[in-house]
Amino acid sequence: MKKYLLSPGPTPVPEDILLTIAEPMIHHRTPAFKAMVGQAIEGLKYIFQTKNDILIFSASGTGAMEGAISNVLNKGEKAIIVRNGKFAERWGEIAEKFGIDPIYIDLPWGTVVEPEIIEKLLKDKSDIKAVYTQLTETSTGVVLPVKELGDIISKTDALLVIDAISGLGGQEFYMDDWKVDICVAGSQKGLMLPPGHAYAAVSEKAWAKIETCTQSNYYFDWKSYRKKLAKNTDPYTGSVIHVKGLLKAIDIIKAEGIEERFVRYRVLAKACRSAVAALGLELYANPPCDVVTAVIVPENVDGLALVKKMRDEYGFTIAGGQAEAKGKIFRIAHMGYIECFDIVAAISALEMVLHELGWKFEWGAGLSAAQKVLAEEYKF
Ligand SMILES: *Cc1c(COP(=O)(O)O)cnc(C)c1O
Repeated sequence: MKKYLLSPGPTPVPEDILLTIAEPMIHHRTPAFKAMVGQAIEGLKYIFQTKNDILIFSASGTGAMEGAISNVLNKGEKAIIVRNGKFAERWGEIAEKFGIDPIYIDLPWGTVVEPEIIEKLLKDKSDIKAVYTQLTETSTGVVLPVKELGDIISKTDALLVIDAISGLGGQEFYMDDWKVDICVAGSQKGLMLPPGHAYAAVSEKAWAKIETCTQSNYYFDWKSYRKKLAKNTDPYTGSVIHVKGLLKAIDIIKAEGIEERFVRYRVLAKACRSAVAALGLELYANPPCDVVTAVIVPENVDGLALVKKMRDEYGFTIAGGQAEAKGKIFRIAHMGYIECFDIVAAISALEMVLHELGWKFEWGAGLSAAQKVLAEEYKF
């Protein structure tokens, strides 16, 4: 059975990248590899849309999240953490481990924070050092108002820290224009690489805070990465295959153009949303992001069976819900190396599975809704 990977990480890896990864190993302390690291940093600046320093870690995305707390905040310092999903909660879990005093904004899953709430909190409490949230909250499929948050937070001494692990490279994002201080990302989502690389882009305002931070860090001591990466090297043995793959991913992204990519994923998302609406299903996310579509499983349909059948009987790996959304939603990702006909195929399989599970709809309704959007708006 042919396999399709439409999960919100890991995502499919393009053939060019797979071939690069298969090449003979090279040593990480060589001029050739240093040149690659230098190019990778420049390429990442384009993808983040930033002039800031870029740090590269051999870790999953969570490693960069951890560092974005442990290098920035001292024990007892206050930070706002927006909690509207599984990955948002992770910011809180890390903050608590490092003795931070979190100010939680707890919101129902599938929703996002009103920027005014944060504006008011920052006005009332001048000792808040940072605000932590996501660009796209992958567990629920929402997109956060990052630009609006940047406008508010940049007027204060606090830092805006964004987890763009699923959003980077697909969801519209301009780190510098949107006044984001720290942005973290990972390799296995929009960047089309295998899992195992994480990135952080860090503004001067953030470095000034980092310089005063007294928490203990060893592997994730960002100051040591900054020093080494300025010389295109890494404090430890960097993941050679990821750096090589990343250069190919950068080529692919540059060839398409970052803005063109934002538009293409927006169209894929629109096609997916039109399809599920035509099948009588409802979205879970408000407002929905462009890199994953989260759909409410209708009553009388077994959500766990839907995801399992898609994978085991039809070859489509999509995602179910996590934690409190388990069994209640399914998620079709359209991030990374996902194109027009991957979505068409996924909707086609979804119709077959929904039919098997007893959901009533007109055959082809979802498919034709998706095709119509793609025919009119998708740029091949
Ligand atoms: C996947 C994801 C993470 C976790 O990344 P890992 O690479 O699994 O550590 C964190 N935040 C968001 C928004 C994600 O999508």
